Amino acid sequence: MKSSYQHTIKKTCVLEGTSLHSGIYSKVKLHPAPANTGIKFKRIDSDLPLNQRIIDALICNVKSSQLCTSIENEFGLRVSTIEHLMAALHAIGIDNLLIDIDNDEMPILDGSSLQYCLALEKVGLKKLKAKRKFLNILKPIIVKRDDAFIKILPNNQLSIDYTINYPGTAVGNQNIAIESLNEHSFKNLLSDCRTFTFETELEKLKTNGIIKGGSLDNAVVFGENEPLNSDGLKFYNEPVRHKALDAIGDLYLTGSHVLAHIEAYCAGHSLTHLAIREIFSDDNNWNLITIDEQSDYKMLPGELSVNSINL
Ligand SMILES: [Zn+2]
Repeated sequence: MKSSYQHTIKKTCVLEGTSLHSGIYSKVKLHPAPANTGIKFKRIDSDLPLNQRIIDALICNVKSSQLCTSIENEFGLRVSTIEHLMAALHAIGIDNLLIDIDNDEMPILDGSSLQYCLALEKVGLKKLKAKRKFLNILKPIIVKRDDAFIKILPNNQLSIDYTINYPGTAVGNQNIAIESLNEHSFKNLLSDCRTFTFETELEKLKTNGIIKGGSLDNAVVFGENEPLNSDGLKFYNEPVRHKALDAIGDLYLTGSHVLAHIEAYCAGHSLTHLAIREIFSDDNNWNLITIDEQSDYKMLPGELSVNSINL
């Protein structure tokens, strides 16, 4: 069970590297932030006034869902490929962070959340005095596109059951189910699972300039029968584990730790974003709650204002 209090990190940590889609080199500095800040990115390369460089990591700022999650503020400043960091923050339990970035795309690192997890673990977490807000799902949310779907169902913790199906490929049909998604299960089961693609897709993506920074160092590339990466796979079902990682990252765009059971089939960023918008389309679908640790994690109606979610 997650702590009922908000957390940040004890001190600044830095990560840098090439980005997957644009191929640019970018550097990010993760700074501690006070309670109720949320997760904020700041474009330090921009000439705009300081207050216009901030981009909140919230669903209202999601402008593109193609192959990655991009957020953009009202002044046109964007940060792309935030989902692997967001997954680590959601799972580890970091509520407040200011992220300086000197470009418009996050470094892809090894294509997973591992480096973020290690960096956050190294600097350590700091418990804050404010209570954490949890997003409690009150009604089942189901979003479909052709055969693909994502269901977000009421639950007293975050759990996930994800299936992908690429018939006739080396990936095939894969499933991962995790009953309790927390810091430990995320670290052991998902954090090092890399993004993936197929050799047959690679030329098309490269020709279209969609993955200028892609290489075997930051993605699993599947040939006809097996991965081309010399180090093989982290798990036999590494691809579906990565899809679950992406979903956990995207769900943190709600601005809160999510209490729900997620069931997904062949979904992706855009379907997850649609499902989050569907949650917030009706106030009867959700509420924000705090959890009282003293009474055996009994949930209490939140003293938090719904306005704080900044839709
Ligand atoms: Zn991903």
